[in-house]
Amino acid sequence: MITERANQERTEVVGTCYFCGGPREENKTTTLPFVVGERLVIVKDVPAEVCAQCGEAYLTTEVSETVTSAVRELINKNELTVVNFSELVPVSV
Ligand SMILES: [Zn+2]
Repeated sequence: MITERANQERTEVVGTCYFCGGPREENKTTTLPFVVGERLVIVKDVPAEVCAQCGEAYLTTEVSETVTSAVRELINKNELTVVNFSELVPVSV
């Protein structure tokens, strides 16, 4: 039987989801919305491990810090900001 994996060779199951026990896969990306008051920042294409079952995303500390610091800055600029993760300045932890 040919599995779907053949098309996704970079995807590996790297752990178990804390929430549902499903497989966490690496080399995925996710979109993260942040709402502060009436303002919204959406960060797209964030590298993450994503649960194949429930879709919960797990970020590394570096990625998480980079997103958090960018959101802190962007939330004050516009009511709605949509940004791609690759446009953000990386924060080293
Ligand atoms: Zn899950």
